Amino acid sequence: MNELIEVKGLKSYYPIKRGVLQRTAGYVKAVDDVSFVLREGETLGLVGESGCGKSTLGRTLLQLAKPTDGEVLYLGTDLTKLNQGRLKPYRRELQMIFQDPYASLNGRKTVRDIVKEPLLIHGLFTPQEREERMLMMLEKVGLRAAFADRYPHEFSGGQRQRIGIARALMLRPKVIVADEPVSALDVSVQAQVLNLMQDLQEELALTYLFIAHDLSVVKHISTRVGVMYLGRIVELADKASLYANPQHPYTKSLLSAVPVPNPKAKRERILLKGDIPSPANPPVGCAFHTRCPVAVEICSQRRPELREIAPGHSAACHLI
Ligand code: SF4
Repeated sequence: MNELIEVKGLKSYYPIKRGVLQRTAGYVKAVDDVSFVLREGETLGLVGESGCGKSTLGRTLLQLAKPTDGEVLYLGTDLTKLNQGRLKPYRRELQMIFQDPYASLNGRKTVRDIVKEPLLIHGLFTPQEREERMLMMLEKVGLRAAFADRYPHEFSGGQRQRIGIARALMLRPKVIVADEPVSALDVSVQAQVLNLMQDLQEELALTYLFIAHDLSVVKHISTRVGVMYLGRIVELADKASLYANPQHPYTKSLLSAVPVPNPKAKRERILLKGDIPSPANPPVGCAFHTRCPVAVEICSQRRPELREIAPGHSAACHLI
């Protein structure tokens, strides 16, 4: 598979302002030196607890937020260096699906206007063609043409997410960053939306960065999976390798919480102590050492780098 996007040393820091003078008292390191590639046609699942920086990473990759440092190479062009004007054609190719479709859809607009809007913004096609494309897209995502005149509040959560997906696909993008697209949905509806996303991926040759907070959601849909902790990727591997043979202690703890289909197959639950530390004040050394069940002395002194430990399988841990 060809590399579509290469992320190199990406950092997103946000200043913490204090006092009347609003002096910068430190930085929240939401994304801290992240590198990976996204290959054409794959789904890279990105998993971690809330606050680990995965959503910021997704937004920064799409240039919805400018990074503090690092590069986002899309077919060789560094998007971080482009101004808004030069970025516009790339925005067509890189789209986002949001977690809460209700919040991301304008409640005062009909489905017709919401789905057609991206074409209008980019000045594409005649009014007649826009209407036809909108109707075609509604059908593709499993919504009836009669729904075009309704408003977002008239739909269920799953239908609203279908509207969000239809809107994101109108510009025929190549890459979709899906930020927890099924987290707000009932479990019964989650599978339907995931299946729809998979069908659309095949039909439209899409590449997904699929963000989720637990490993069970991304298991079915992903080609590879990356696990994030406090702004960094701590493990990245092919799906089969990650689920069958997790190496990083944090991945092991996340996996131990995933229910197994066979009740006789016992898996010991690894409970982590405490909460995820603040990204404004991450622990020195390995950021996971304050919660790691197997931490040793060096873990609080030196930060382990993400390195390849087997073909296609990388992890950041001193003990591996
Ligand atoms: Fe645990 Fe140390 Fe490995 Fe970090 S480097 S995951 S603290 S064993």
